[in-house]
Amino acid sequence: MKRFVFDLDGTLLTGSFDFEHEYFKTVYKDEAGRLFDKMGEYLDEYERTYPRYSNDTLAYFLTTKSGLVFNDKIINGWCDAMSVVPDKIEDNIFELLEHLKSKDCSLAVLTNWYGKTQIPRLEKAGMLDYFDEVYTGDMVLKPHKKSYLMAMDRFAKEECVFIGDNVDKDYIGPRACGMESVLYDKNNDHHESLVKVKNMRELIKKY
Ligand SMILES: [Mg+2]
Repeated sequence: MKRFVFDLDGTLLTGSFDFEHEYFKTVYKDEAGRLFDKMGEYLDEYERTYPRYSNDTLAYFLTTKSGLVFNDKIINGWCDAMSVVPDKIEDNIFELLEHLKSKDCSLAVLTNWYGKTQIPRLEKAGMLDYFDEVYTGDMVLKPHKKSYLMAMDRFAKEECVFIGDNVDKDYIGPRACGMESVLYDKNNDHHESLVKVKNMRELIKKY
C-alpha cells in the first residue's frame, strides 16, 4: 500500500466538544442545550445533501433546521472556538505515522469540517507535517464519492487505504470507490465481520 488516508475526529485526535457547547451558550443562551443535542444530526444531514461546507449554505440550512439565526459571523466564531479545543491524541498514532513514513507511504487527511478549524488542530498536535495533503469539508465532503477520489490523488485505488472511526463515511464510502478501508473501533462498538482495529499498533503489524 502506498497511500493512507485518515479521518481526523475520533481517529487522529479527539476534541472536547464542551467548547462547542460553551460557544453556543454565548450566542444562543437558553437555546444552546437544545441546539447542541441536535447539531450532530443537522450536520450529518448537511453533509449528505451538499457537496461542501460554505458559510452561506450552512447558515441557511441551520437557520431553517433549528429556527435560530445563523450567519457568517456566528459560523466564523464557531470555527475559531473549535480551532483551540483541547485535543487528545489517539494512542500510538505517532508510532503508526512514523512507521508508514519509514516505508515511504504518502499520508493524507480527509475530514468533514472547515480547514480553518482542522489545520490549527493538526499543527498544535505536531501532526501536520506528516501529511502530504489535508482535504477539508470546505473543499469536499464525505460520504460523497468525489471526496474519496480526491483523496486518492495520483494513486490507484488499489494502492490506497482509508482509516477512520465512522462506518458510513470512513468504511463503506471508500469501499464503494474500490479502496481498502479499516475501521478504527477502539471501544469495540461494531460487528466482528468488519475489518477493524482497536489500537493503531495493529495497523503497524498489518502494513
Ligand atoms: Mg471521525
